[in-house]
Amino acid sequence: MVDKNSFSDKEILDSLKEIIGSILMLEPDEIAANSSLVDNLGLESIDFLDIVFQLEEKYDIAVPRRNPIQRIEASLGEEELIQGGKLTRKGAKLLKIVFPEVEPSRIYEGMQESEIPSLLTVQTYVNVVKRGLEVAHWQPEQCDKCGAENLVLGDKDKLEFPNDVMPFGPVFLCKACDNMMIAPSFDDLIYEKASE
Ligand SMILES: [Zn+2]
Repeated sequence: MVDKNSFSDKEILDSLKEIIGSILMLEPDEIAANSSLVDNLGLESIDFLDIVFQLEEKYDIAVPRRNPIQRIEASLGEEELIQGGKLTRKGAKLLKIVFPEVEPSRIYEGMQESEIPSLLTVQTYVNVVKRGLEVAHWQPEQCDKCGAENLVLGDKDKLEFPNDVMPFGPVFLCKACDNMMIAPSFDDLIYEKASE
């Protein structure tokens, strides 16, 4: 069996260059990891969706459709990340966590919300794939309630979830106590790293 977790950064980057190149009619070597998708490559909104679909198919992962600000707000609740179309101090801090590949000085309090798409680089999507693979292959070692190690993969279509939200990643059930363990959501992994 192929270990789907074993893609190297370079393999993921190469596949992205191919996908983006095919959309924009560019040769892969015309595309760099730090190319801005909007400013340097001229990608349009519709192209982003095309990239997402192709990545989901190739890597068998789920990629969030919402923009990073919406994702942060959904994960953290009612936070003031944008005021008057500009990033707040808190918004800037969290965006730096979401975009570790972006030079930190490019993200600042007072930055226009409309400038955020310019921050997206090819490397942003390499990171998206890596996080998607982490979520897709998440597996607890033992039950977080009773400690049993006899866990089975749950059938998501037959289970009920809080707020009826189907998780991105897998779900495991404890055979001993019926406890259900849900893979961390896409961005939980980022915030976990941020709080370390
Ligand atoms: Zn248990």
